[in-house]
Amino acid sequence: MRWKGRRQSSNVEDRRGMGGFGGMFGGGVRGGRRVRSRRKGGIGSLIIMAIIVLFFGKNIGLNFGDILGGGGLEQVIQQPQSAQRSPQSNAQQEEIVKFVKVVLAETEDTWTPIFARSGQRYRPPSLVLFDNSTPTACGTGKAASGPFYCPGDQKIYIDLDFMGELQRMGAQGDFAFAYVIAHEVGHHIQTLMGISEKVQRQKRQVSKIQGNAIQVKMELQADCLAGLWANHTEKRNAILEEGDIEEGINAAAAVGDDRISGGRLSRKHYTHGSSKERMNWFLQGFKTGDIASCDPFSRTSF
Ligand SMILES: [Zn+2]
Repeated sequence: MRWKGRRQSSNVEDRRGMGGFGGMFGGGVRGGRRVRSRRKGGIGSLIIMAIIVLFFGKNIGLNFGDILGGGGLEQVIQQPQSAQRSPQSNAQQEEIVKFVKVVLAETEDTWTPIFARSGQRYRPPSLVLFDNSTPTACGTGKAASGPFYCPGDQKIYIDLDFMGELQRMGAQGDFAFAYVIAHEVGHHIQTLMGISEKVQRQKRQVSKIQGNAIQVKMELQADCLAGLWANHTEKRNAILEEGDIEEGINAAAAVGDDRISGGRLSRKHYTHGSSKERMNWFLQGFKTGDIASCDPFSRTSF
């Protein structure tokens, strides 16, 4: 990816080295809420409504370990021991920080005009870099869970060691990491458009298994929005080098529920989609660059 020398976002909050709960935040963070009830309701055409209803209320719900799938999967995959990790040198880390800031800036430059075209102002998310653990409006964020987005504070949380983790999972290259960031920004877009709130409401009205299926659509939409980001960014700046899109596709496949669980997870327990679905939706966004095409809610599968 040709990213050097490009604008860096100022919306990055660096909490590295702050020792978990230390620093300016202290304790007392409210945990993410997960409430379930069994009322009936229809899902409708979420994205069309969402484009019109560009608002959000009090946000609820969160997926820690978003790109990988939190919760159930944590029991399935072996978390790497910190001793086994090979931390990047300071110089490498600072290079990665610059990269993150450039990718975030490119998401701002992608989404600002898209929102403007429908008369809306894009409010970009903050991206928090942290290690170990950090307080969030959704409870304690843990590095071991992987990157995630918290709708409650509209921040993306990333531990830079995850980049190494991604490579160990078979997703090599800088563009793989860019895809992860763009996916998390995709969840921010879903929050701004009111999709997240509707999905959370819907999930509370159905069974756990049905809720998983809805959650998968959320994740596939975020993958599509990541592809859309790549499309627009390429048109603006020609950032892509040979092999970049393959890196993105690889990364999407590497974080599929089937791949991560080694096939041990049955379909009804998927929360993010299969490798094939994640690749397809990423490619869908990349090929069309059109937000209306990123609608897994009204399309059963490819
Ligand atoms: Zn996600």
